Amino acid sequence: MSYLIDNIEYSREWALRLLRAEGPDLAELYRVADRVRCEHMGDDVHIRGIIEFSNICANNCLYCGIRAGNINVGRYALSPGEILEIASTMADSRQMTVVLQSGESTVFGDEKIGNIIRRIKEETPLAVTLSAGNRPRETYRYWQECGMDRYLLRFETSDPGLFGRLRPGSALEERLNCLSSLLELGVQTGSGFMIGLPGETLHALADNILLCRTFDLDMIGIGPFIRHPDTPLGKEKNAYDDHSEMFFKALAVLRIFNPDAHIPATTAYDAVFPGEGRDLVLQRGANVFMPNNTPVRYRKDYFLYPGKPSVDGSGEQSVNSAIMRIQSLGRTIGKGPGHSIKKRKR
Ligand code: SF4
Repeated sequence: MSYLIDNIEYSREWALRLLRAEGPDLAELYRVADRVRCEHMGDDVHIRGIIEFSNICANNCLYCGIRAGNINVGRYALSPGEILEIASTMADSRQMTVVLQSGESTVFGDEKIGNIIRRIKEETPLAVTLSAGNRPRETYRYWQECGMDRYLLRFETSDPGLFGRLRPGSALEERLNCLSSLLELGVQTGSGFMIGLPGETLHALADNILLCRTFDLDMIGIGPFIRHPDTPLGKEKNAYDDHSEMFFKALAVLRIFNPDAHIPATTAYDAVFPGEGRDLVLQRGANVFMPNNTPVRYRKDYFLYPGKPSVDGSGEQSVNSAIMRIQSLGRTIGKGPGHSIKKRKR
């Protein structure tokens, strides 16, 4: 394994070899991923507070618990005042980025979102990350002018056929064009994928990792596919149900292939490995933690998948528990906004 990692080529073949590591090789893979994280990103873990500001979505992705066709979900949209109120307390709890996340819908018009971004930038020291789906380049530019620092848009799978099946009415190409627009505009850009979507092959997983490298992303979020009972994939198995170690291998290889990207320990890991999933990924390549700051009364309606953690605790409890977990691993809490460390023109 040392030979492989010392002579690494960033190719599908190399990714596959690493993804197939077992026994002592697997332990070595995790050690190297953690070392690469430490050398490039340091020991800081950046805390980014999420506000799921609306679960209204016009799309019907087959895997998603808040898809438009799920009538068991109570739809909500926070008011700008509610969003501002939550954001205004974040810096006090060492969350220096607010991540505003919603379904893909025009219910919140561009201008309304733009005004929220502007006010957060004027009234708080926070960096602003937005995640609201595919939008025209002009909209991204407008939000950037309002002060948006970063944008998250996961491609979910690099397999165009699988993408088209799982996300009816949309195409992978369109998604990737949005990512290109964001990068060209100089917005710090995040993407990522699900691990083990039904129908995913190991080759596709390797390609997912490679696609992240090709785009030279600033942030990369990945997590296991978890079936949601109220979706068309409600009875499907994860492609790695019998080999869940693959979820961690994918993250370790992702880190080795993308040494200077911010990689969050996503909540889906805690859903699959309760109480320890995110701790394990923080030791295998991840360097960001994202506590949930959505008001508790709305959280049950932002169930992208079952078992999602932090359903009950307040935003303050979520962040306190995150700080304890990070410190118990011997890591430090990131100060400042934790911007991308990539040297490119913005
Ligand atoms: S994955 Fe995103 S776009 Fe698709 S249904 Fe869920 S919220 Fe909507």
